[in-house]
Amino acid sequence: MEKFDFMKKYGYEQLVLFHDKATGLKGVTAIHDTTLGPSLGGTRMWVYENEEDAILDALRLARGMTYKNAAAGLNLGGGKTVIIGDSAKIKSEELFRAFGRYVQSLNGRYITAADVGTTTKDMGFIKMETDYVVGLEGKSGDPSPITALGAFYGIKAALKYQFGNAEIKNYTYAVQGIGKTGAYLIDYLFEEKAKKVYFTDINEERIKALQTKYPQVVFVKPDDIYNLEVDVFVPCALGAILNEDTIPRLKAKIVAGTANNVLKDEIKDAQALKAKKILYAPDFVINAGGVINVYHELIGYNKDMVIADVKRIYDRLLEMFKIAEERNISTQEAANVFAEERIKKIHNIHRNFIPR
Ligand code: NAD
Repeated sequence: MEKFDFMKKYGYEQLVLFHDKATGLKGVTAIHDTTLGPSLGGTRMWVYENEEDAILDALRLARGMTYKNAAAGLNLGGGKTVIIGDSAKIKSEELFRAFGRYVQSLNGRYITAADVGTTTKDMGFIKMETDYVVGLEGKSGDPSPITALGAFYGIKAALKYQFGNAEIKNYTYAVQGIGKTGAYLIDYLFEEKAKKVYFTDINEERIKALQTKYPQVVFVKPDDIYNLEVDVFVPCALGAILNEDTIPRLKAKIVAGTANNVLKDEIKDAQALKAKKILYAPDFVINAGGVINVYHELIGYNKDMVIADVKRIYDRLLEMFKIAEERNISTQEAANVFAEERIKKIHNIHRNFIPR
């Protein structure tokens, strides 16, 4: 990979490689775009085949955060860190504190948070060395219920757009994955008397617990979830589950859930859903509750304000669905257009000098 060519092509601002002699910490921070504000994105700890893969992952994920944060209406740019190594083996107070010092050296251009392989406890160590970390214990807390709430409002927006009526009780749902977010989402669905909820998972304990809690819920085998005659398919498990094999099997009229990277191929699969007249709520928009939640730590955390902000996912999705229809593009492309236009508009209002 020619790094400067790649950065130029996608508009990256900065790529930082760091290594700490004392702890062996090594990693990459990528800052994509800070037009809207400081870049924010989690720290991933992962074992990569080679350095190129780690750098590419940081770059790709940072750009994704620019779009996610912009589409969520936040005053944040996109950034991401990957720490290279096995989270089960290399974690220590000194390693995270050494990392915190690198974050501090970026002087607020990048704010970190937890991601795959890191936890709120790790963020606590980072906090000892930098002001630029969110998602701390005792602050915004577990993002899962908030992410699920955002997805719930996203489902309502999709119902409104697709069927002209957003009442949860009129429709049927197929939920894939009842982990941290899926289980909360099912609670919300039953609170508003969902007509019927099917679900699948591979964790026996969770399956039993859900069946005990809601005797009316219907379990199906993991591979059968795609074939169900339901109104809404709700992905809350893995990525890349919608692809050339599964999309032809879908009978649902809406896809809306918490999972990341739902489409195997963002362009082709979004088009395939559009061709089948299945309304797709873009993953990075509908699952933004978590990032909205941590953002509020930066502006003074208030739960009611967070909830109000997360509920705005409803209006934002409706706007994107309209863009998609008017321009005859997929909803995934419309979400990208929405984010890019917001960045452009905010950039434009900052042209005049105002002393502050
Ligand atoms: P989780 O690990 O708590 O839950 C995932 C569930 O999916 C588990 O119960 C697991 O057993 C199940 N599962 C795994 N493979 C499966 C399969 N083949 N078929 C059916 N079920 C299967 O994860 P989560 O935090 O609920 O996150 C779910 C998705 O939402 C992920 O893609 C995650 O990146 C995304 N997301 C989560 C948050 C959050 O706040 N937790 C925020 C944004 C996005």
